Amino acid sequence: MSTIADNFLKLRKHIPQTVKIIAVTKTKPVDDIIQVYNLGYKIFGENKVQELVQKQEQMPKDIEWHMIGHLQSNKVKYIAPFVSMIHSVDSLSLLQEINKCAEKNNRTISCLLQMYIAKEESKFGLSMEEAKEILTSPAFKNLKNIEICGLMGMATYTIDDNVVYHEFCDLKNYFEEIKKEYFANSDKFTEMSMGMSGDYELAVKAGSTMVRIGSSIFGERL
Ligand SMILES: *Cc1c(COP(=O)(O)O)cnc(C)c1O
Repeated sequence: MSTIADNFLKLRKHIPQTVKIIAVTKTKPVDDIIQVYNLGYKIFGENKVQELVQKQEQMPKDIEWHMIGHLQSNKVKYIAPFVSMIHSVDSLSLLQEINKCAEKNNRTISCLLQMYIAKEESKFGLSMEEAKEILTSPAFKNLKNIEICGLMGMATYTIDDNVVYHEFCDLKNYFEEIKKEYFANSDKFTEMSMGMSGDYELAVKAGSTMVRIGSSIFGERL
């Protein structure tokens, strides 16, 4: 068995079955990705629109593609026909554009609100106040072709496990509060996308339902 397939199977065994693994394929060739697909696994993620579109064209059509990276409104149209979930929604205007493109394609697109939980300046994401502003705005109520399915967050890049774990717990607390206030009657608001190769164990401990894992499956990126 190939190293990639072996990596994936070990990881799948190690992470609870209730937690979805988004196999992050960025910079990796189709020949590598297909090794995971051939195990019967079909949930993959990309962080750039162009690469996502190219891979969707080249790979089998029963793959569930997740957009996990920062998304500009003017590029939504390229992924709207096929994308299965967008993890990185960080503004109302982006959400409106996703809704518009989804409607054109006669689809509903599942979205996660990306929350800012890290100590770093560079990470994208919403504060709790900004998230609530979106969810209570009249414009939001008119969006019929998007479904908010949960939250996504990225922890600070540090070797201090305590910091990372507490940031993931912050996301879990945001999730519980938003669910209670805005999605109490919905069975769709269920996902917490948190955890990558370096910190997924802490994320799972904090309640993650989706881990986004690249290098631990496909090897280091150059
Ligand atoms: C690249 C990437 C990942 C996966 O990173 P690894 O450390 O390789 O597991 C997860 N989430 C996002 C948003 C990414 O861009």
